[in-house]
Amino acid sequence: MREARLWKAAQAAGLVLTALLLTGLVLRPEPALTLLWNVAIPLVPATLLLNPLIWRNTCPLATLNLLSAGRAGTRKQTKRFATYSSLFGILLFYLLVPARRFLFNQDGLALAIAIVAVAILALAVGAAFDLKAGFCNAFCPLLPVERLYGQSPLLSVSNDRCARCDLCSRACIDLAPEKSIAQQLSASRHDSAWLRSPFGAFAAALPGFVLGYFTLDDVPLSGAPDVYLHILLWAAISYLLAVAATMLLPIRNRRILRGLAALAVGLYYWFAAPGIAVAVGLPLAAEPLRIAALAFVVVWWFRAELRSGKQDARVPG
Ligand code: SF4
Repeated sequence: MREARLWKAAQAAGLVLTALLLTGLVLRPEPALTLLWNVAIPLVPATLLLNPLIWRNTCPLATLNLLSAGRAGTRKQTKRFATYSSLFGILLFYLLVPARRFLFNQDGLALAIAIVAVAILALAVGAAFDLKAGFCNAFCPLLPVERLYGQSPLLSVSNDRCARCDLCSRACIDLAPEKSIAQQLSASRHDSAWLRSPFGAFAAALPGFVLGYFTLDDVPLSGAPDVYLHILLWAAISYLLAVAATMLLPIRNRRILRGLAALAVGLYYWFAAPGIAVAVGLPLAAEPLRIAALAFVVVWWFRAELRSGKQDARVPG
């Protein structure tokens, strides 16, 4: 009961902070952008490794999704809807994240408009579906990242959003984060077919996507095509390396997926650490922060390997 009250308080705080962020992005864009990109967002990957339900229980977009859920219908996900909506979410991720380099890192108003647009999407599609079936488990651009990073949570956290499970969604990460990838990939997880699924391709390309993003500087709007080309190139290299590893190395797919998650988070913190250190007023802490973040990722990876060791020995794929 006390735990439920704490989650509700965190959800209300999330909505208030989002309103403050939007106001800040319009009125005082510089500090608001720094706070968002170099303090708030860097907390998300580590939180997902701890347990994606910490984020999913508090995410303001999920709160909006659930505020409107069921008001214009209580549809549940069909297989077709789950496939196409998750594909749309991945496309949204590929559209929005690179746009930081030529727009959202510099233009507070543009970012505020984009956040409001995604919030309207969460409210609108959420209303036509049961619980999280319309947005959080469908169009949310962060969902594939939540699945990948949440595959072996370090902490046990319960789902606060659903009083009982209505089976509104397929491969719902809230039911069991550690089973979500297997459910999403279904039979394809046992062979190289996982690389041809939207989620598999996303996971295989993610380390390169991160590397591509961080090997660019912010550029003016006219540099947008080059930004997309550069990041897509790195994502393609990453994907091809994952294909080669799957085809040539005697490694189980689940181990490759754990490695991809660790590599993507590790690369993220390696590059993001200096910006975080400056933003919190401790520029000399960049290297210690880097080391601490990488140590955390190694601990996550090592524990994930240990936990799945017995299962990997029993089940192929
Ligand atoms: S836990 Fe059940 S009811 Fe809640 S979002 Fe997942 S599938 Fe839907």
